[in-house]
Amino acid sequence: MIAPLDVQLDRDDRTMVQPDVLVVCDRGKVVRRCVYGAPDFVAEILSKSTWEKDMYVKLGKYEAAGVREYWIVDPKKKRVLVYDFEHTDFPALYTFMDQIPVGIFDGESGEESMELTEEILRDALHYGKAFTKLGRTAQYIPELRAVNRYYLGICTMDLDGNVLEVGDTRVPFTIQSISKLVSLILAIRDCGADHLFHEKVGVEPTGDPFNSIVKLETKTRPFNPFINAGAITVASCIQGKDADEKFGRFLEFTRKLCNNHEIALNQPVYESERETGDRNRALAYYLKASGILEGDVEECLDFYFRMCSVDVTAHDIAYMSLVLANHGIDPLDGEELIEPQYAKAIRALMLTCGMYDGSGEFAMTVGFPAKSGVGGGIAVPLVDRMGIGVFGPALDEKGNSAGGIKILEYLS
Ligand code: GLN
Repeated sequence: MIAPLDVQLDRDDRTMVQPDVLVVCDRGKVVRRCVYGAPDFVAEILSKSTWEKDMYVKLGKYEAAGVREYWIVDPKKKRVLVYDFEHTDFPALYTFMDQIPVGIFDGESGEESMELTEEILRDALHYGKAFTKLGRTAQYIPELRAVNRYYLGICTMDLDGNVLEVGDTRVPFTIQSISKLVSLILAIRDCGADHLFHEKVGVEPTGDPFNSIVKLETKTRPFNPFINAGAITVASCIQGKDADEKFGRFLEFTRKLCNNHEIALNQPVYESERETGDRNRALAYYLKASGILEGDVEECLDFYFRMCSVDVTAHDIAYMSLVLANHGIDPLDGEELIEPQYAKAIRALMLTCGMYDGSGEFAMTVGFPAKSGVGGGIAVPLVDRMGIGVFGPALDEKGNSAGGIKILEYLS
């Protein structure tokens, strides 16, 4: 059924396609098959132009033996991935997407992947620096607006204990939306994944900005746990008699995930978030009125503002990413901090929704699961391989670190 794969894609053979099912082949061997209902991000990845100069992944359409196939070519490594219409499990898609950077391209072929060195990181940082001036720091509160927008740093930690750091990796910044990873893990623990993902939040990308309210009127549940509406809902599912107790649990867990027991609240940022958080307040009250958010709205928001206002560094979030990359196991002492199946689910959500309405573009140009925050951080878990923490407070128009994205694009 699958045609031989030694096909070379013609540069002009670019076609817009809407595939339904995915079959992944590596040199004629089917390595993964999966169906997807209709996740827009995949259609978007596959249908958008992928001919940008820094990309090695190209998209084409191929007709063979009456089967429509869609394939992506990696000309650098001479690998072809074929996509066609077959049937198997939906979750496999996420596994596949999750593994593109490290599983299929590097691991399974037996090819040695290039070793990451400090010099490569320096080059990546240098490349990313040029883009910091195109972005601006988050403008909604003075504490974030005033941050030096030229800060840029990257820290990588692999499973063998190698740590590389270049640039501003020890400069504290507020965790902001990266905290949504931590709160999601706690909420899964506290109220169960079934209840959370069936009753409270969905798992689909929205294509809208992170603080958008528009879909709440047409759809009761927030689309995913990483947009603000979803994250506020998730925050309401965390156990604790009040915001203090919830935040205590959150902080303790963040410290564990980052392997840094000094992580603490940034009080001025928290106060500003609370004072200026009317949009989040509007989301929360709307959710309460729709019966999604339970409990005291102000208490829930108070916890949400605090969890966004915790100071971390790129080094800290590299460790958190490493835990996610290591299936939820703390690599230092072997403690299971996240159940492996949920570490996997979270990596999948990072890939589809972690960069807000920039997730499709980011998946296409970088392909790593990632979670950003308006403080300028990006957490990147590369499964079975490494955790990456990036910091660059100059943001693009979607609220993602402008220089940080470029660093990751360079490395990918
Ligand atoms: N504190 C921010 C907010 O809720 C966090 C959003 C973000 O990092 N994108 O608006």
